[in-house]
Amino acid sequence: MTSYLIRNAQLLGGPAQDILIDAGVVQQVGTGLTASADVEIDASGLVALPGLVDLHTHLREPGREDAETVLTGTQAAAKGGYTAVHAMANTFPVADTAGVVEQVWRLGKESGYCDVQPVGAVTVGLEGKKLAELGAMHESAAGVRVFSDDGKCVDDAVIMRRALEYVKAFDGVVAQHAQEPRLTEGAQMNEGQVSGELGLGGWPAVAEEAIIARDVLLAAHVGSRLHVCHVSTAGSVEIIRWAKAKGWDVTAEVTPHHLLLTDELVRSYDPVYKVNPPLRTAEDVHALRKALADGTIDAVATDHAPHPAEDKDCEWAAAAMGMVGLETALSVVQQAMVDTGLLNWEGVADRMSHRPARIGRLTGHGRPVSVGEPANLVLFDPAYRGTVNPDAFATRSRNTPYRGLDLPGRVHATFLRGVATVLAGELVEQDSLA
Ligand SMILES: [Zn+2]
Repeated sequence: MTSYLIRNAQLLGGPAQDILIDAGVVQQVGTGLTASADVEIDASGLVALPGLVDLHTHLREPGREDAETVLTGTQAAAKGGYTAVHAMANTFPVADTAGVVEQVWRLGKESGYCDVQPVGAVTVGLEGKKLAELGAMHESAAGVRVFSDDGKCVDDAVIMRRALEYVKAFDGVVAQHAQEPRLTEGAQMNEGQVSGELGLGGWPAVAEEAIIARDVLLAAHVGSRLHVCHVSTAGSVEIIRWAKAKGWDVTAEVTPHHLLLTDELVRSYDPVYKVNPPLRTAEDVHALRKALADGTIDAVATDHAPHPAEDKDCEWAAAAMGMVGLETALSVVQQAMVDTGLLNWEGVADRMSHRPARIGRLTGHGRPVSVGEPANLVLFDPAYRGTVNPDAFATRSRNTPYRGLDLPGRVHATFLRGVATVLAGELVEQDSLA
C-alpha cells in the first residue's frame, strides 16, 4: 500500500502540521515529521477535513445507468471530498429487498472510490402501502440502518408509525421526504409571489411543514429516531427546533442548493432550477443558514440527483426534478456558510462528516484526523477560485445549477482508508487505487 506524508496541512483548531498515512491509518501527526513515505504532498494552505459523508445520494443504478452508475457516482463523490455516501432506494428495481441493497453495496465495494451504504425503501415499490422487508435489509450484507421512500413521502400515518416502531429494534432511522401529496398535486415550484407572477402551480411550504410536524409527534410517541430529508422552509426549521427542545430524537439535513439559490431563478424557466423540494425564498435561505449554523439542522446532504440531458433540456412542466451536487457541495458550503462567517471549518467537518456519519451509524467515518484513526480525509484548498465547468465533472449527468458560476475552493486530494482516490484535483485511475 502506498504511504503518504502530507506536509503543512491546516488541521482543525490547530497550527499547520504534517500527517503520515500508511496501511489505511493515520500513523503520525506533528510538526516536522521525519518519517519517510512513498509520496510527499505539499499541503500548505490546504485544510485537512475528515472524509465527507453524504446522507442523500441518488446513484441511479440499477435501472437508470444512462443518468449515473455506482462507479461514476462514487467517482463524483471522491472528487467532492466524500468517503461515504448513502445511496437512495428509488432505483429500478426499487431497493426494497435484501437482494437489491446487497447488489448496490457490492457495486460500491467494486468501485473503490467511496463507501456506498444503501438506503432501504420503507414501503414495497415506494408505493406507500405495505412495509418493505426492513429487517431482512438490515440483516443483509449491506447492513441497512437508514430507510427512506425518498422521491415520495410516506404519507400514510399508520405506515409511518409502523416503520418507526420497526426500525427501533435495530437502532435504525426513517428518513422522510416530507411532502404532503394532495397539497402538491401539479406543483411546479415554490408557492409564493414568483409562482403567482409566472402562473406556475405552487408548492406551499405547509405541504412540507405539515408532514414534519406529524412525523416529529409520531417519532416522539413511539420513541423512535426520525431524520428529515432536505428541509427547505423557515417554518420547517421552527418545528425541528421545537422537537429538539423537547428532547426528541429528530435530526435534519439541508441541501447545498437550498443554502444558496432562491425561486427568483425560476423566472428564467430553465429546468436546471427545477428540484424537489423547490427552491424557496431568500427568507427561507436565511433561516436555513442560521439553523445549520446553530445546529438545529444537523447535516448538509447533497440530494445529488443526476438526470440525462433529454430529461432536463425540455419545457419546464415536462422536466425531471433534481440537480447534481456531489462535486460542488463543499464549495457551495464555503460560499454560503464559511465565507459569510456563519460556520468555521470545524463546523463544516461536524455538519458534513461527523454528524451525518453518526446519523447513519457509519463506524469508521466521521472520525477526527488523528493518530490511530482510519485515514479517511480530504485536503481542501479554500483559496482556490474557479468557474464551475460541468464538462469536467465525473458524474455522468450535467444538470448543475452552477454552470459558469464562480465558486470558491477546490478538493485537492481525497483518501479512503489511506488510498488516494483524488490527487492534485484529479481522479486516480481505478486500477491504481492502492
Ligand atoms: Zn427527496
